[in-house]
Amino acid sequence: MKLVTYHHNGVERIGAVRSDGVVDLSVLAPTMLDLIAGGPGLLDQARELLAQAESATPLEAVTLLAPIPRPRKNIICLGMNYAAHAIESLRAKGLPEKLPEYPVFFSKAPTAVNHPGGSVPLMPELSSERDWEVELALVIGRQARNVAKEEALTYVFGYTILNDVSARDLQTRHQQFFFSKSFDGSAPMGPWIVTADEIPDPHALRIQLHLNGETVQDSHTGDMIFDIPTSIATFSSGVTLEPGDIITTGTPSGVGMGMTPQRWLKSGDVMECEIERIGVLRNVAE
Ligand code: MG
Repeated sequence: MKLVTYHHNGVERIGAVRSDGVVDLSVLAPTMLDLIAGGPGLLDQARELLAQAESATPLEAVTLLAPIPRPRKNIICLGMNYAAHAIESLRAKGLPEKLPEYPVFFSKAPTAVNHPGGSVPLMPELSSERDWEVELALVIGRQARNVAKEEALTYVFGYTILNDVSARDLQTRHQQFFFSKSFDGSAPMGPWIVTADEIPDPHALRIQLHLNGETVQDSHTGDMIFDIPTSIATFSSGVTLEPGDIITTGTPSGVGMGMTPQRWLKSGDVMECEIERIGVLRNVAE
């Protein structure tokens, strides 16, 4: 299922997308977080409702929001998780080109979440080096603590696309990613969550970012240094993961920081993040 949070006639609802539009699932749960917390039983009810609904609201008639518009916690992020991107980042900073031996975790504030189609404020008064990062993000479906790698994917509720918009100059200045990656609007997410049953292998997906129609990032989720089971197992070894928690798995090469000359987002730039089996997340820098 493709699960969405959306506005229709001024009301926020959750639903599922099928060929003729969105089927309202709000009767089952008021928010996506409640639907996720309801577990497999509630998800089965959602499937039934989707199959049986006589009509749907056309996608054009609704406004899609981020599937989880307000996460309960920070978004858990992996940095330097594709070798070619790690090298381009280190090279741009003049640092030794050494790949991480352990997953690099940081986070983005929940207030950074942005919607499909939402404009990304560039905030030129704060940063002159805003950059794009297409990423595969996963949503945790049930409480996870000290999970074995072999079991890790059974804790995933579904997958979505996240654009980890960054402020490179502040990343360097403040020596830590939290501020520079948490600007309001810097975490576009969506357009929906694809439930895990539809993506049995999250490491078999082409991942791309098109900037004003030009493909600047083009890679494969099989190229992650630390795969999703490793990230879940490592993080949950010390930190409890809960339903609705979001982990975004890092970006491949092709960000503006790694280009010669470097290229930064400017007002009007259109970012289209595309991941196979999920779809396209489109946002405009403003
Ligand atoms: Mg990132």
